[in-house]
Amino acid sequence: MDNGLLYRHRAAMTSSTRKSNQLLRLIRASQPIMRTEIAARLSIDKSTVSEHVKPLIASGILREESYSEDGKRRARYLSFAANDLIFAGINLGVRRSQIGLTTLSGELSDEIEFETPAEAWKALSLAKQSLNELLAKQPNKTLAVIGVSVPGMADESRRKLVFAPNLGWKNVDIENAFAATGARVVVDNDSTAAAMYEARLKIRDSEDGLMTNFILVRSGTGIGVGLVIGSEVYRGTGAGRGVAGEFGHMTILAGGKPCVCGNRGCWEKYASASSASSLYLGDRPPRTGEKVPRFVEIVSKASVGDVRSRKTLEKIGEYLGIGIANVIMGVGIPRVVISGRLVYGWEFIEGPMRAAIGQSIVGKTQGWTVEAGEPAGSAIGGALELAVEGFLASL
Ligand SMILES: [Zn+2]
Repeated sequence: MDNGLLYRHRAAMTSSTRKSNQLLRLIRASQPIMRTEIAARLSIDKSTVSEHVKPLIASGILREESYSEDGKRRARYLSFAANDLIFAGINLGVRRSQIGLTTLSGELSDEIEFETPAEAWKALSLAKQSLNELLAKQPNKTLAVIGVSVPGMADESRRKLVFAPNLGWKNVDIENAFAATGARVVVDNDSTAAAMYEARLKIRDSEDGLMTNFILVRSGTGIGVGLVIGSEVYRGTGAGRGVAGEFGHMTILAGGKPCVCGNRGCWEKYASASSASSLYLGDRPPRTGEKVPRFVEIVSKASVGDVRSRKTLEKIGEYLGIGIANVIMGVGIPRVVISGRLVYGWEFIEGPMRAAIGQSIVGKTQGWTVEAGEPAGSAIGGALELAVEGFLASL
């Protein structure tokens, strides 16, 4: 799968600087955008902006179009061109997996979802099948990068899954599984992917978005944490690369519930969306034939006034707050974004969570914030982000 565009472009831009990476991320987040706005937001000259975008326009990655403002003035705006490159996102979830496609200009394909099989090879084979189905609807396009978000740790080269405790998968060569596509493969932790997705929204929505720092807490089947510093995800250093953010397994209750990681009382046993079912039952095993409600069902019950469901969500909120306060204290970043399935129960969780943070030393300081992120970021949105960011970083 040769692609002239890619090579022409690489030839045009030999050096990859942090500024040009920021410039591309800004254009992607805020497209269409004027050169003057890019210059102002990156604190660089307009001529420097032109220097960076010229080869990208020439190679067909970016385009610049004039739009009429108030019928008189015509301003020129930059955006990614609807070229022939396509990107795939695969989110391998503990319960369900999603697959979708996107372009640099931001068009999205349909999404295919399936229940994640217990064996990794079966899941990857289903993912490949779904990917081929989606690609068949996009003739004349070249698949550039496949982003794969996983509920566990990726290796340093971001090609393999090292360990996904909630799936029991170890050392899965994901890159190799998609070798036949000819596309580059980027594998990363799902919380990291969600953090990248939310970082793009911050770049789009705020003037200082490129300087943004926040902690992303993704709570679904487990809990994962992504750290965004200066709008970029922090991955750890040395042997710790890829391990940064494994706060889901910090002990929150000594001698507490056993966890898949081998420890007891881990945060994710008390504040993940999937911990709701157990809390709802009062931490006893279900009786024979007893139907145990899942997280979303507990949220619907709470919405119509079911006391037990409300109490369950309040308890989760409290545990969530205790963990968040610990993470803020450890990392020193007072802004937190919550992602994952837990967001659906936000109206019941938020109050007790804030009260629990308020009990901690960090809660007594000024300026900490916790907000709910967008549900898409924790699923297909994050996986697509990995693919497109992987491409932009290679330019
Ligand atoms: Zn654990």
